[in-house]
Amino acid sequence: GPEYVRAIAPYQAGKPISEVAREFGLDEASIVKLASNENPYGVPESAKTAMAAAAADLGRYPDANGFELKAALSERYDVPADWITLGNGSNDILEIAAHAFVEKGQAIVYSQYSFAVYALATQGLGARAIVVPAKDYGHDLDAMAAAIDADTRLVFIANPNNPTGTFIGAAEIEAFLKKVPANVVVVLDEAYNEYLSPENQYESAAWVKQYPNLLVSRTFSKAYGLAGLRVGFAIAQPALTDLMNRIRQPFNVNSLAQAAAIAALNDKDFLEQGARNNAAGYQQFVEAFQQMGLEYVPSFGNFVLVKVGKDLAAGARVNLALLKQGVIVRPVGNYGLPEWLRISIGLPQENAILISALQKALASDR
Ligand code: PMP
Repeated sequence: GPEYVRAIAPYQAGKPISEVAREFGLDEASIVKLASNENPYGVPESAKTAMAAAAADLGRYPDANGFELKAALSERYDVPADWITLGNGSNDILEIAAHAFVEKGQAIVYSQYSFAVYALATQGLGARAIVVPAKDYGHDLDAMAAAIDADTRLVFIANPNNPTGTFIGAAEIEAFLKKVPANVVVVLDEAYNEYLSPENQYESAAWVKQYPNLLVSRTFSKAYGLAGLRVGFAIAQPALTDLMNRIRQPFNVNSLAQAAAIAALNDKDFLEQGARNNAAGYQQFVEAFQQMGLEYVPSFGNFVLVKVGKDLAAGARVNLALLKQGVIVRPVGNYGLPEWLRISIGLPQENAILISALQKALASDR
C-alpha cells in the first residue's frame, strides 16, 4: 500500500460494553459507558416506530437519493433539497468532502486538538495536513486563516469541538469565512450543534446561501440518538453538493436510518428532554470536578474534557482504574492530551457513578 496509508494511526473508538465486561469480569448491565458522546436516552420511540414500518421493505435497496429525508431537511433548514448530501454518519460526509475537493499533494487546514477524523481524511488522500496550534484548547481562527497557503483546498472546523468542547461564536466564524479564499472549502462540522443554548445558536444554513465555499455538516448520532444507524448530512451550494454526489457510495444511508432520521428530526420533545438532561449533567460534572480540584475545559457539547493528573501516563492510568470499576470513558492521549480524559454526559445516575468511580480512582492514584 501507499506509504501515506501505512503511516495512518487507526481511529480509536470507545471500548464496547461487551468487551469491557469480558476483559474485567463484569456484568454488562452494571457497566456505565460515557465514552462516545452518545445520547444516554438511546433511540427515540418515534424513530423505533418508523423503523418497524420501514423494516417491511428491507428486501429492497434504500432510496439512493434519500428523497424523503432530504425533503424533511430541506424544510427544516430552508434550503433546496439538492443542497443536501446524506452520509453514513457525518464521518462519511467529512471523508466525501475531502475526496471531492482535495487531491494528493494539496493541503487541508485543521486545528490541534480537533476531531480525529480530519487527520484521517487528510492522510488517507496523501494530502498535506496543516495543523494549527490551538488557543485555550479551541480553534485559533486568526491563525487558521493565516495558515491557508496556495495548496490549501479545505479547512475543517468543529463547532463545538470534540474532544475539547470549545465553541466559537457566530461573529468570529463569519469574520473567518470572509477571509477564506473562494477556492478553499470550509467544512463547518456541527456534530454537537443541538446542544448549544439558544443564546449561542446561529444560522449556519443561512450562511451557506451567502458563502459558496461553505459546507455545514450535521449528524443524527448525538442529540437525535441514532449513532448506531449511521446517518449525517451536509448542506452546501449545488456546485459542492454535485461533486460530493459523484464521490459518495450510491446507497450510503440505509433504509432504517433514513426512516429513523425523519422521525427523530420531527421529535421536538426528545430533543428538548436531551438538552435539559445535558445541561443538568454538565452542572453535575462541573460541580464535582471543582470539588475534586480538577481542571476542566468549559464545554458546549455533551461531554467534558477533564485533567486527571500531571504526568503523561495519568489519563491511561485513571482510565484503567475506571474500567476496573465498570466505567468506560475516553482517554485522549492520541489527541496529544495524555493527562486528560473525555467524559460524555449521561443520565444523572450514570454521572453519579462516574463521579464516585473517579474519586476512588484518583484516591488510589496518589
Ligand atoms: N464530528 C465530530 C466533531 C464528532 O465528534 C463526531 C463523533 N465522534 C463526528 C463528527 C462523527 O459522528 P458521526 O459519524 O456519528 O456522525
